[in-house]
Amino acid sequence: MSSDLEKQCLLCERNISSETDSREHIIPNSIGGRKKVSGFLCADCNSKSGDNWESELAKQMNPLSLFFRINRERGNAPSQKFKTISGEEWELNVDGSMNLPKPIFKKQQSETGTKIHISARDMPEARKMLKNISKKYPQLNKEELLKNAKIQSTYLREPIEFKLSFGGLDAGRSFVKTALALLSTTDANVSDCDHAIDFLKKEAAEPCFGYYYEKDLVSVRPAGVPIHCIHVNGDPESKLIRGYVEYFGVMRVVMCLSSSYSGNVFSTTYAIDPTTGEELNLSVDLDLDLTDIRKAYSNEKLDEKVVQKAIDAVIGPTLKKQHEEERDRVLNKAVQYAFSHCGAKEGEMITEEQRNRLTGLLWEELEPWVLSQIVSKR
Ligand SMILES: [Zn+2]
Repeated sequence: MSSDLEKQCLLCERNISSETDSREHIIPNSIGGRKKVSGFLCADCNSKSGDNWESELAKQMNPLSLFFRINRERGNAPSQKFKTISGEEWELNVDGSMNLPKPIFKKQQSETGTKIHISARDMPEARKMLKNISKKYPQLNKEELLKNAKIQSTYLREPIEFKLSFGGLDAGRSFVKTALALLSTTDANVSDCDHAIDFLKKEAAEPCFGYYYEKDLVSVRPAGVPIHCIHVNGDPESKLIRGYVEYFGVMRVVMCLSSSYSGNVFSTTYAIDPTTGEELNLSVDLDLDLTDIRKAYSNEKLDEKVVQKAIDAVIGPTLKKQHEEERDRVLNKAVQYAFSHCGAKEGEMITEEQRNRLTGLLWEELEPWVLSQIVSKR
């Protein structure tokens, strides 16, 4: 459309042509955003804001992106190291699997000799470690040892320590930009959002966002879903353009994008389930006055107890769901493995011996999972 070509970049104010247009994600791709807008930022500004504001947001949100196994359009959330409560270090991947962050080498000296224990992340690494060790201990039979090496998968015996920290102006600018991107899809003008534009463009401008937990602004919240929800509204009576950004059902931010609005009434919401990318039909009651929004700016609406409740409301059901998925996966795999290794042929009766072998094989496959259940239920 020709009107798109006359649009100006929000940040540098240069005209956006079809060559310089960027398809900007309303919610950043890094946390699972899908919908894009055009004629909002030029490609240069898109890339700069991505480097500064969005990478900071992505970093702060990454533990949640990994935990909820978000479904990204492009790329995966980067694996991240976590400690269990007793200090064991693991690397968590977005598919829910975990790696040792580095290989482990343990040497025990005793009267009968030296005992060496190595844990590697894969066979090539084990081979490399053994090669180095056998330089020091030429009497070791490297090939024999490798043959006896076991590929093991285990479960964590204790919970991971989850530290969430959010805040800072870079993340704040990402929230505000997201609200403006949604607003650009309505009939309202982004250029009316004077507070927002000042904050995005001027280092010294007042940050026009704050964390808000006083009441739940999402009217019918879907239970257990770590929603991303963006809302903007404007009305000439209060003269306010307000914005709301919520990520993972946990991080909730209100903003005043303008306090001198005189245009038409508008209101729009965009929400997704970041674990699937599916759009949700939600509504947000954002009717706070300027005094309340300003209190959020100075952290007066940040209630640790409500934050914790919001976290529990999405983490509990997700753990349950992930646990059921893992149980099904382990069972299916064990049954397949046991049947294909017990010697039975399809369509034939199972012999007594095969049945015994089947039970043994099933247990072999199920054992780590069953044991982890006993440990974690204690
Ligand atoms: Zn620009």
